[in-house]
Amino acid sequence: MNLQSKKSFAMVDYASCDAHRCNPDKGICAAVLACSHKVIKQIDGAFEPPMIFYDLCLGCWECIEACPLRAVRIMHVT
Ligand code: SF4
Ligand code: SF4
Repeated sequence: MNLQSKKSFAMVDYASCDAHRCNPDKGICAAVLACSHKVIKQIDGAFEPPMIFYDLCLGCWECIEACPLRAVRIMHVT
């Protein structure tokens, strides 16, 4: 259980995110595949940047570690 008052969540840096570069064949986001909580999705389809449902994000880092372009960052709010 997280007893900290801080909340951490993932955020996509849309300036760095580029599915044409990270997955030129299929355009599928590795961060989406990595999120076992299913709160990051390519709503607009392949080759489009993913969206994170911040309220449901647990800040678990799975997506951050999965993105080869380091386009997903962790944010902390108090
Ligand atoms: S978040 Fe990372 S893995 Fe996902 S589409 Fe963007 S660059 Fe690719
Ligand atoms: S930090 Fe964890 S819960 Fe949040 S989007 Fe990434 S993988 Fe999913």
